[in-house]
Amino acid sequence: MKSLALRKLDAYESPTMTERHVDVVVVGAGLSGSYAALLLREAGLSVALAEARDRVGGLTYSPHSHAYGGRVDLGGQWVSPRHQRINRLIARYAVPLVKQFVTGQRACLHGTDTFFGPMGTVPGLSEQEQAEYKQSYAALYAAMDAVADAPWDSADAERLDSMTYASWVDTICGAGRVRGAMMRIPGAYYGALPEEISALELLRKLKSCGGPVFMSDTDTGGQSWHMMGSAMVSEGMAADLGDAVSLSSPVRRIEWSAGRAKVHADGGVWTCRRVVLAISPAMIAQIRFDPPLPPRRRLLNQRFPNGRNPMSVIVYDRPFWRERGLNGNIIATVGSMTAAFDLGDEHSEKGILITLFTGRAAYGVDDLSPPERRQVVLSKLAQALGPEALEPAEFMEKVWADEEWSAGASSPFLMPGALTTIRGDLREPVGPLHWAGTHMSREYRGYMEGALSAGEDAATRILEGIRT
Ligand SMILES: Cc1cc2nc3c(=O)[nH]c(=O)nc-3n(C[C@H](O)[C@H](O)[C@H](O)COP(=O)(O)OP(=O)(O)OC[C@H]3O[C@@H](n4cnc5c(N)ncnc54)[C@H](O)[C@@H]3O)c2cc1C
Repeated sequence: MKSLALRKLDAYESPTMTERHVDVVVVGAGLSGSYAALLLREAGLSVALAEARDRVGGLTYSPHSHAYGGRVDLGGQWVSPRHQRINRLIARYAVPLVKQFVTGQRACLHGTDTFFGPMGTVPGLSEQEQAEYKQSYAALYAAMDAVADAPWDSADAERLDSMTYASWVDTICGAGRVRGAMMRIPGAYYGALPEEISALELLRKLKSCGGPVFMSDTDTGGQSWHMMGSAMVSEGMAADLGDAVSLSSPVRRIEWSAGRAKVHADGGVWTCRRVVLAISPAMIAQIRFDPPLPPRRRLLNQRFPNGRNPMSVIVYDRPFWRERGLNGNIIATVGSMTAAFDLGDEHSEKGILITLFTGRAAYGVDDLSPPERRQVVLSKLAQALGPEALEPAEFMEKVWADEEWSAGASSPFLMPGALTTIRGDLREPVGPLHWAGTHMSREYRGYMEGALSAGEDAATRILEGIRT
């Protein structure tokens, strides 16, 4: 049975779209574009929101799980109480929110070895390795804190932007398990390989999100609460926007001049005063602009790829790991799986786990067939939690790199050399074209909160521009 929000959306699926005029066309009904459209509409402007897929939500995706009996998430879902915008929308659209379950010990996979220990530690590291891990984190924080608001103006900008995060890690710690743990950071938060993301870019992203300790904190930090059905946020906004939303309407071409634009999508053609592109640079690069975008913008689109971040949700008849004093949280320093979490609440009768593959592990599993991938996921869970893990009631997955309208996840990142050569505020509009999407955010870049913040920024700039 469809949720209320989905049933409401059915009404907007096939609007008849010929050429129409609106104040603003927003491209992309992920969180960023939907929020920009909602704010502009609430401020009194007429808007059209064009979405390529036959659903809204973008990188939030919440299918129904039969075994669990509710919606589960195969994309963005964790929030911190500090993420104010997303929390306001969670309340507005009554999206179920669950405190992250952490009672018991976590497991850490070091290749084929498994160790258990408290949250906040890397179980299995020797005393010497723990000291090295602490020092490496201190070096990471010192470098992160030194990044300026305009990162290309940081004292060490050119050196940091000339190297990848992997080569920077080699300057702060030796080979081994500590290096393995440090190398997980770009994959865990952005889906990027440590060997491809600029060190400066990663440091400024981490800084915009409060740093990796806060980001992984399960008390009040970035992993303290999670939604069950995060797509309901975008579905709620789409329902409020009504017939302004056009699904299955990829934007293919944009003609633009100083104060006007004509947007051609499969679902219709709009003339407008402003356009918000709330899509990733890889998607912008597929749109034909007439006249072409300025060279700096085109270079940016080529140097801002997406990573890989396949996700699985696995449902069991009962949370058997809890009976053994385990909390279902798994991390890894070496080997294929990056992380797992227990998504149930304190009283959950069903067992529900989520797994993430990032970095090189993501490339490995993305290229497998679905049955092979399932086998890899379940065998890693069995190594950490016990053989019952091999017999799930349901297995669901999303390979984001296979998605035509995302082409990877979880957030676009800049390659070495880009920040210090392209320079300047990337959010500056080009004529009537404004930029949104989580990668454009000043805060919580890569998060759902960042997507909303960037959408809000774009809407504010447009309103200021139109009113002056
Ligand atoms: C596996 C995974 C785990 C994550 N975990 C978390 C988490 O726990 N917490 C958190 O805060 N964030 C998390 N994120 C990140 C979060 O989901 C994203 O930052 C956020 O949803 C991005 O929103 P957006 O609107 O910027 O972009 P998107 O969601 O990418 O939206 C862009 C939209 O534009 C559409 N589009 C593309 N091209 C066109 C076109 N030409 N015409 C029309 N439409 C187009 C797309 O279909 C899409 O709907 C995760 C993401 C993934 C994938």
